[in-house]
Amino acid sequence: MASKFAKKPTNKPHTVRTYKYDLILNQIEKVGLQYVLQTCQRFYNAALEERISAYKQYTEELDKRGLYHYESVQKTSKKVPKKSKKTPVQASPVELHEVKKIYDHTSPEAKELKKKYEVNYYTQAAALTLIRAEDQVINALPRHMLNAVLYKLDLAFNAFFKRCKTGQTPGFPRFKGIHQFKSFEFRHPLKIENSAGVSQVHIPNLGWVRFNQYRPLRGVVKSVYFRLQQSGKWTVNFSVDLGGTPEKIPLDLIPDNQIVGGDLGLNILLYLSNDEKIERVRFTKNSEKKLAKQQRKLSRKKKGSNGYKRQRALVAKTNDRIANQRLDYLRKVAVYLVLHYKLIFLEDLNVKGMVQGLNYGKSIYDAAWSLLVSLVQFKAESAGSWVVKVDPRDTSQDCSGCGKLVPKDLTVRIHSCPYCGLILDRDLNAAMNIRSRGLRELGLSVSTTDEPRSVCTDGESLSLSPVCT
Ligand SMILES: [Zn+2]
Repeated sequence: MASKFAKKPTNKPHTVRTYKYDLILNQIEKVGLQYVLQTCQRFYNAALEERISAYKQYTEELDKRGLYHYESVQKTSKKVPKKSKKTPVQASPVELHEVKKIYDHTSPEAKELKKKYEVNYYTQAAALTLIRAEDQVINALPRHMLNAVLYKLDLAFNAFFKRCKTGQTPGFPRFKGIHQFKSFEFRHPLKIENSAGVSQVHIPNLGWVRFNQYRPLRGVVKSVYFRLQQSGKWTVNFSVDLGGTPEKIPLDLIPDNQIVGGDLGLNILLYLSNDEKIERVRFTKNSEKKLAKQQRKLSRKKKGSNGYKRQRALVAKTNDRIANQRLDYLRKVAVYLVLHYKLIFLEDLNVKGMVQGLNYGKSIYDAAWSLLVSLVQFKAESAGSWVVKVDPRDTSQDCSGCGKLVPKDLTVRIHSCPYCGLILDRDLNAAMNIRSRGLRELGLSVSTTDEPRSVCTDGESLSLSPVCT
């Protein structure tokens, strides 16, 4: 058992990726997978129940032997009563005193009891053989799948204890309803077959299911999980190890034309310091119209009715599509950036939001921006590129030519410097400032050969649609 969950070699960071594909299922297969999911969910809850009752037995024993004491804990309520919104005078945090029963887990007697009653991943996995012999429903599922369910529960407990230790007050692992239990996993590779353009994955005890392998699966498969999406679609997800991450080039050896600064914007998603523009994704407009229409229809349906459920599934499907399109586009942008640039300076978004005090459509831009930044960071890792966040304060106000402050409000699109005569696009000026500020922060020399150039001729640009001018 232990070898299955052996830790990965830690000497070198490995690139781990997940490849996600849609399953192509007929009605019978769908029902089958749904049944598997339900069984896993019930099994999860049963395992949780066992852990809880074991802990209860343990504390009851502690009670019997008097291995506890009471402590008065001063607690400052985080939640201010709702009423106080209207009457701000009462809004000061409420101080509470709570008498808490503290068990003494450290005494030798308690330790022995703990050993006796402890239920953990290993004891539960060991008991599986017995359970499977008695329960035909559980027995129908592959053992590895059940192990993975127990492992999932164990992770939840570990996270809970870890947070307890750091003085937080986390929620106890909960029983999961069918709507909270959406996936089952195998913590090892599964058989895959590809013949005549049809890809299939073999689920032990269940058989082959087809999936749409729209792109090749690379690396060594470590685990596989099947997931039911909100839209009712099933996906198969392969977690793969792509091997060691490439070494990064030393900062001072990166050629000048592979160093770039980027200004995140509303109309142009990313304006690079070499005058390259990456447009904001616009092709979701049609989908957005469709979504609005579907949502209007949904609001007219009676909640809980079959029509409502059908319509809700449609809305989820469209939502999925929009999210996928956006993610796909941003991914391509990120790949494009890390393939072409080895040192990328981007704005620190926490500071940017704070400074600009953006409020209109903030959520949309914010989400796209931070998704892009994290994707670039993520992709840079496997491409051996550096991504450095830079404080964007005043990057649009300072002159990239002479460094003097040239104040302008958001409507002024052209930076025109009265001191050195530099005239250029406002966002380009900002991007160049981000680049030079980043270089200074890293202690590298700021070159002046930041000539605008065209880089869109490269064949590797992955059918990226943004316009480069
Ligand atoms: Zn100037």
